[in-house]
Amino acid sequence: MPTIDDALRVLSTTFGYSAFRPGQEDVVRAVLDGEDVLAVMPTGAGKSLCYQLPALVREGLTIVVSPLIALMRDQVAALRNNGVAAGALNSANDEEEASRVRAAMREGTLKLLYVSPERLSSESLADFLARRGVSLLAIDEAHCVSQWGHDFRPEYARLGEVRRRLGDVQTMALTATADGATREDIAQRLFPRAPRTFVQGFDRPNLRLAMSPKTDAPRQLSAFLGRHREESGIVYCATRNAVEKLAEKLGDLGYRALPYHAGLEQAVRQANQDTFLQEDGVVMVATVAFGMGVDKPDVRFVAHAAMPKTIEAYYQEIGRAGRDGAPADTLTLYGLDDMRLRRQQIAESQAPEEVKRIEYRRFDALVALCEAPRCRRQTLLAYFGETSEPCGHCDLCEGGVTLFDATRETQMILSAIARTGERFGSEHIVSILVGDETEQVRRLGHDTLRTFGVGRDKAKNEWRGLIRQVYAGGLVENDITGYGAWRITERGDAVLRGRETVTLRADVHAPKDTKKARRA
Ligand code: ADP
Ligand code: ZN
Repeated sequence: MPTIDDALRVLSTTFGYSAFRPGQEDVVRAVLDGEDVLAVMPTGAGKSLCYQLPALVREGLTIVVSPLIALMRDQVAALRNNGVAAGALNSANDEEEASRVRAAMREGTLKLLYVSPERLSSESLADFLARRGVSLLAIDEAHCVSQWGHDFRPEYARLGEVRRRLGDVQTMALTATADGATREDIAQRLFPRAPRTFVQGFDRPNLRLAMSPKTDAPRQLSAFLGRHREESGIVYCATRNAVEKLAEKLGDLGYRALPYHAGLEQAVRQANQDTFLQEDGVVMVATVAFGMGVDKPDVRFVAHAAMPKTIEAYYQEIGRAGRDGAPADTLTLYGLDDMRLRRQQIAESQAPEEVKRIEYRRFDALVALCEAPRCRRQTLLAYFGETSEPCGHCDLCEGGVTLFDATRETQMILSAIARTGERFGSEHIVSILVGDETEQVRRLGHDTLRTFGVGRDKAKNEWRGLIRQVYAGGLVENDITGYGAWRITERGDAVLRGRETVTLRADVHAPKDTKKARRA
């Protein structure tokens, strides 16, 4: 039986590294002991070696499932470069390459076979492998197995069945991001028994975390980018259209900004990605289609022009910065329009109710991170189940935030919502609070309400920001089907009746008046 010392030897002779990185050794040991393993390790931790080393010190063939052809291509090329017999089977193979790989498998010389989940589920390949015998099945990006992960892929859902077909072969699943629910789901879907689970620290101390309410996104982003002239980074946008527009705008401002989204022609996408990888000082303006499997160590910043989908997605996306360990900067902009859009997406999705409920909760967790009163990193790590001290260099640690007892203000908001029958969105509620006699206010007689004008001492923008926090705090919920009418939740009701108090941030400003917000 090969031992950890054999693995260490291969680490040095084949890969030229002198020591394991934190976490690698324990995982490799468990695999060599024959255990099924679920390993959650941050991006850049060195997950690949956790299956490559066992594959090389053992007899037989290791299958590596990977969702991305580009990723397979890079890994296979790197392994071959190090003299390792590795090959890939996927839709991008030409026939010659595929038959060379198959021949190497038949002869038993191939050590590592990278394969797409679709290909592995095909009966012919699975049967061939079952007859031939496989010594280890490694599933990379394993969060794709779970509906609760941030990147569910239906073809991953069948991998549990594939594992059985391969004769209940020893299996390891690897991912960079999985919260508790996702980990459990992965374990259930892939393994017959609970696997040995390794969760390595999520802290990436070299990343500076910052989030800001969206007031003027182009201006905020260009201020951020201005601190990173000549550096490489990524700006994530929510839509293809937003990508195009922002890339153009940044181009006008003198940045080397390239667009990337799934709607671009394959050749253009590839060219832009190559430029980003090979040259310095390129800003990739992209949808989330960009990034998985892109290994550029010196990405110095990641910005979100709009909110990510979940904390996991956020973590994964900012995690593309600073893989070399040197300081890297992040900025995430968030606004009420993002929140409404996301909630609407969830409501309109085809997912079962139970999944939707979880999606809402997860999104709420992200909103809470955006509006967190304390250390951003602490809040982020707490989400992944880690406790930590205040980091000292996130936006909240540096700037600090002023908290205030907002019970009275919250009651005013809730009361205006209640007295108008929970039928109106922010703008109308704000008009009532500041005593603005709009046409709608007069027509509905809302200028006679007791709450009319009680919030005169604050600007409309301040009230919008407060409503957003009250929303983030779960005191009101949104009528997602149309006009953005606020409804009071049970907790909101407790505040309205004076049974609970509310603490809010004093420094959260409202997003700019968007058309949508005005209509609401
Ligand atoms: P992950 O898949 O966890 O994001 P990779 O497996 O791609 O990470 O590894 C990231 C980088 O770290 C690669 O360039 C890899 O060669 C390097 N690396 C991995 N393990 C070690 C090690 N023990 N010593 C030095 N470099 C390592
Ligand atoms: Zn901090």
